[in-house]
Amino acid sequence: MINVTKTFLPPIDEYQNLVQRAWKKEWLTNRGELVLELEHKLKEYLNVSNIIIMNNGTIPIQIALNILGEKGEIITTPFSYVATTSSIVWEHCTPVFVDINEDYLTIDETKIEAAITSKTTCILATHVFGNPCNIEAIQEIAMKHNLKVIYDAAHSFGVTYKGKSIFDYGDVSTCSFHATKLFHTAEGGAIFCNDIELNHKLFYSHNFGHNGPLDFHGVGINGKISELQAAMGLAVFPYMSKIINERKEVVENYQLNLDFLKLKEFQIRPETQWNYSYYPVVFEDETTLLKVQKSLNESEIFPRRYFYPSLNTIPYANGNSMPISERIASRVLCLPLYAGLSKEDTHKIISIINQSIC
Ligand SMILES: *Cc1c(COP(=O)(O)O)cnc(C)c1O
Repeated sequence: MINVTKTFLPPIDEYQNLVQRAWKKEWLTNRGELVLELEHKLKEYLNVSNIIIMNNGTIPIQIALNILGEKGEIITTPFSYVATTSSIVWEHCTPVFVDINEDYLTIDETKIEAAITSKTTCILATHVFGNPCNIEAIQEIAMKHNLKVIYDAAHSFGVTYKGKSIFDYGDVSTCSFHATKLFHTAEGGAIFCNDIELNHKLFYSHNFGHNGPLDFHGVGINGKISELQAAMGLAVFPYMSKIINERKEVVENYQLNLDFLKLKEFQIRPETQWNYSYYPVVFEDETTLLKVQKSLNESEIFPRRYFYPSLNTIPYANGNSMPISERIASRVLCLPLYAGLSKEDTHKIISIINQSIC
């Protein structure tokens, strides 16, 4: 069976050796030595000014919205994983959708200003599939209207834009280290923020607001990651360049051999060093997509409809119609992509798709 992704599992003895350290110290959470070591390694690898690692990739979005959203309207993309929208609603803010750019699949920056009202507090946009939003245009709009910018960069581990980590853009960026993501800690995530004061607030907010054992800076929640998760991260970390290189080979194979007369790739924004996190293809219509999916399923190959449905159509989101996002969502399929996907299997996937669409 070939799934859309396959969790990278490091050799178990390497994981056990790291976990041993937690046993020796009898210390399982509350920012132990493994969490601090992983944070330090990631900070250097990603070349970011600040990082706080957390228990998943959703809590950092919620903490950021809790602090910056002020229960107002949040301009957001309808083409993302549901966590982007659900976090807004969960934090008692209102999602206001802006349609996407057909080629990049990121929020269409030219449509943002028309959606701003006196209640707008933030823009929460996703660097979808690791592809950067139009960061400069969004920054300019945010400055003009005094809005905060939060990037859901769940897919963007290791991506650089204009020579700088993608996580260094916006007021706050977040990442997910879920088992299905490029780099993982089984469950985990991170928040990135350049502003010292805001970073401090994000930090204490993820630890109940604590200022030492007996005092509190303010209100908070529990966003802490455990030593066991950090051990997984430390065990996966040395394999990152191998993981990315093997994914690159699969993507290049798709790019070389898929029949692009009948399907469309997304475009990576110029000046981006991409991370090969997902390989979405857009078919001419949903009927073709369903036909391709069925043929692949018959050969035990299971791509995924990322992202479907368009998030504006989720009942609790109360969204307006978003024609481009809805059209793309109904026609996009993410093809299997992971380290260790063999050339033979990739060719099999390609030939089934090319036959189904001809
Ligand atoms: C995976 C994902 C999240 C949530 O991350 P978790 O670690 O699963 O909580 C948020 N946004 C996007 C775009 C994602 O793909």
